[in-house]
Amino acid sequence: MDEKLLTLIGRERATGCRDAAVFGGFGSFVAELGDPGLAALGEAYAAAPLDRRPALLDDMERRVRQMLSGEEAADGAAESLFAPAAPAPAPPAPNKKTAAPKASAAKPKLQAPAPQAVSPLELPLTSLRQVGEKRAALFAKLGLHSVGQLLDFLPRAYRDRRQVTPIAQLRLGVPANVCATIRKTTLARTRRGFSLLTCVAEDDSGSISLVWFNQPFLEKKLRPGRELRAWGRSERRWDRLSFLVQEYQLAGENGDWEGLVPVYPLTAGLSNRALQAAVKAAWQRAGAYVRDVVPRELTEQRGLLPRREALRLLHFPEEPEQVDRARRSMAYEELLELSLVMQRSAAPGPELTRRPTDNEELRQRFQNALPFSLTEAQSRVIDEIYADLDRPRPMARLVQGDVGSGKTMVAAAAMLKCCAAGAQAALMAPTEILARQHYQTLGPLFDKLGLTSALLTGATPAGRRKEVLELLYNGELDCVIGTHALIQSGVEFCKLGLAVTDEQHRFGVAQRARLRGGAGVDMLIMTATPIPRTLAMTLYADLDLSLIDQLPPGRKPVKTFAVDYSYEQRVFAFIEKQVAEGGQAFVVCPLIEENDELELGSATAVYERLSREVFPSRRLALLHGRMKPQEKDEVMSAFREGSIDILVSTTVIEVGVDVPNACVMLVLDAERFGLAQLHQLRGRIGRGERQGYCVLLYTPVNELVRERMDIICSTADGYELAEADLRLRGPGEFLGQRQHGLPELQAADIFRDSDLLQQAHSDAARLLAEGPLPEALEKKVQALASLMT
Ligand code: ADP
Ligand code: MG
Repeated sequence: MDEKLLTLIGRERATGCRDAAVFGGFGSFVAELGDPGLAALGEAYAAAPLDRRPALLDDMERRVRQMLSGEEAADGAAESLFAPAAPAPAPPAPNKKTAAPKASAAKPKLQAPAPQAVSPLELPLTSLRQVGEKRAALFAKLGLHSVGQLLDFLPRAYRDRRQVTPIAQLRLGVPANVCATIRKTTLARTRRGFSLLTCVAEDDSGSISLVWFNQPFLEKKLRPGRELRAWGRSERRWDRLSFLVQEYQLAGENGDWEGLVPVYPLTAGLSNRALQAAVKAAWQRAGAYVRDVVPRELTEQRGLLPRREALRLLHFPEEPEQVDRARRSMAYEELLELSLVMQRSAAPGPELTRRPTDNEELRQRFQNALPFSLTEAQSRVIDEIYADLDRPRPMARLVQGDVGSGKTMVAAAAMLKCCAAGAQAALMAPTEILARQHYQTLGPLFDKLGLTSALLTGATPAGRRKEVLELLYNGELDCVIGTHALIQSGVEFCKLGLAVTDEQHRFGVAQRARLRGGAGVDMLIMTATPIPRTLAMTLYADLDLSLIDQLPPGRKPVKTFAVDYSYEQRVFAFIEKQVAEGGQAFVVCPLIEENDELELGSATAVYERLSREVFPSRRLALLHGRMKPQEKDEVMSAFREGSIDILVSTTVIEVGVDVPNACVMLVLDAERFGLAQLHQLRGRIGRGERQGYCVLLYTPVNELVRERMDIICSTADGYELAEADLRLRGPGEFLGQRQHGLPELQAADIFRDSDLLQQAHSDAARLLAEGPLPEALEKKVQALASLMT
């Protein structure tokens, strides 16, 4: 027993008796301290309603004081519950970047290069002892076949395990490295058949519930008394605070744990450890053969690292600063290659012979088929598109318009003209749900316009698929709407004239090129991602730009509120009221980027809690990415038809979904989302008659979070938000930001690295003007270009 328990009680009181002063719950913590009197109080505390807790706290305090006066010296040696942070280990002396890499334990040694017929970089991965046939097949899934490709495969994040965080110092949502002893392990099953393994573990500073999702088999391993190290973060899940484990190691197990640990993109069956080991072996074998791609004179001019040094630091870093510099170097290389490809491909393609159409008649016919009149902005963009479609050069146009600005209708108008000119048009959406939704609105519209249309997605039954393919091939189908299924082999058009991709930032450059299917097809890309103009010009050197800068009339701006979790009950009451008045609500569950399983698990838990405890008399449904397309579809349709009141979902609904009667968007753990993403989510509501409310429940982890919340609440302008997002990107995560539209980029983030992008853009122009590219660069540019056509 310890004075610090008094501090703890004080803290619990100061934070409003929310049972949150200790991770895992203050009450349960007290209950497990080993004193029967306190245990009873602790249990009562955890179960008590808020208004009864202050009195219980008083009782606890009295009890502790009693115990302290009675058994003063009993536990003198115990470390305090809230010991100050262990001082950070002194950083190792920085290496001179220019010096040849010194060999050390953390840095695998290089073999001296010896003359060889084939560069070791070209050898197949199976030439490494660590990689057998079976594992090679897994690597192949990641696009990795040779040793050199493996070395070019970059981590997407790093886990900083240079220090251990005492349990008492864990902060909500912040990734941490914990070292603790297991006290008790329990396995539970949730209603939907998921399993939840909970392990109460403690260190000198406190105790916490470690949680594993869907790994029941670990129960046997995680025996009480064993010591383990765990990487993860504390979350408000399953009704209390728990530590979600992403990676762990039991004492005595082999493998590196400490340090700055690279995290690679993975595929099922391939662990991060296996990847790390293979990279290490690859580096020992072939690291010395890595050559520059970017001419050295540019690297020096831009203050970047030579390629070999950059790769070494990315795979085997010692300091976050090294990683950042190395990342920027590789990012520059990628952006230079991308700029080169874009600038080369911006050269005009072959000209088309087009059948003329009566545009005035088309505009009339289109307007007549609509229940509303087009906005000025929509009409202007349609004019721009129609003008493109009358020119011999194939169209390549990007339409940007904020969420709800009515991009779909612009696409439909373009498709109409394409068909009127005797060709076929395709519209590709990034998700099943969106494709469905487009088909539901556009199908009837096309009917009215006298055009035939069909839906083709991964969920289309084989028989129907065959039918659609035949109709497309014969030219009996004017329009087709679908998902990636449209660009799979076997899909052949009789005469594809126009390819539209919706919400393009979900598609890669390669995909959009594949849909275009080579020159001779007009291309229209629609996006709600507000890309700052200068960026767009660099990034889409091959595209013309149209803006829909106006919303349809009568839209009431969505009211946005950001509150912390102490408002949770009030927020629920508000939703209850909105639903009672006939509205519908979205509840978006926390984003857990690096782990699908956890994301799904937490969404399930939220759904169960809300349907059981919070809204027992309402109709709720759960929507998540693992559901079969058809299931998603059923849920979404039910929600659109109003037979579901509250839709709990992962971020599947982020893009494009349209439910006019939905008036509340509740986002949990909103601090995890980017501003642009929150803006997208908010755009899902307030599309009908009802006033829309966006409520962001968040944890004020730091000042930056507060600032971001202030901005999203006060600004409705997507562009302003995009700029702010850029400005406010924390330096915390050096890698692993979501890419916006260019999944081929491993190291670069086109938003954060906009300075590099601009440099690369002008350097590319200069290189192209100067003559042939250096061989290594030319080879990589061609490889990238071939991916994109
Ligand atoms: P987004 O640009 O986000 O893709 P949508 O095309 O989904 O927007 O349009 C949002 C909603 O606005 C749809 O319900 C659509 O029918 C409606 N809409 C589109 N254009 C207009 C208009 N000119 N007047 C009124 N409503 C419109
Ligand atoms: Mg849309």
